[in-house]
Amino acid sequence: MDECVFCRIAAGKIPSAKIFENEEVLAFLDIGPVSDGHTLVIPKRHYSRLDECPAPTLSSLAAALSCTAGAVQKAMKADGYNVLCNNGRAAGQIVEHLHFHIIPRKTGDGLFRNWPSYSYPEGKAAQIAEQIRRMLEK
Ligand code: AMP
Repeated sequence: MDECVFCRIAAGKIPSAKIFENEEVLAFLDIGPVSDGHTLVIPKRHYSRLDECPAPTLSSLAAALSCTAGAVQKAMKADGYNVLCNNGRAAGQIVEHLHFHIIPRKTGDGLFRNWPSYSYPEGKAAQIAEQIRRMLEK
């Protein structure tokens, strides 16, 4: 996985504006921020997607995400933040190394305004929930 840009950042082969680092996790500024302080949190080992990452590493990521997000919000004097994890091309993932975006938000900043939600027709939610539960058992 030597070609992966985030593996190279984790290995110190290319520079990044580091925020936090421990044995398993690294947080650094996104080079193409959506807002000032936009931060990425990654596992140092390469996993492409969330569902491929083992639970102990996810636990370390969650701990790092939480304290980094709090620090980002305070430092940027933000009113809130989004945590975003794109998985797969269809979901907008460009770098295929698991990462979480922390995006500081200001009231009325107008980011992510369109969240096209809809209602399930009668019976469909129960059917979909059952389909997903079956996959959890596998
Ligand atoms: P995604 O669409 O979730 O895969 O987002 C990948 C993110 O990685 C984008 O927001 C990029 O701006 C960011 N990115 C790509 N290369 C670098 C880099 N060398 N250092 C910091 N951020 C990067």
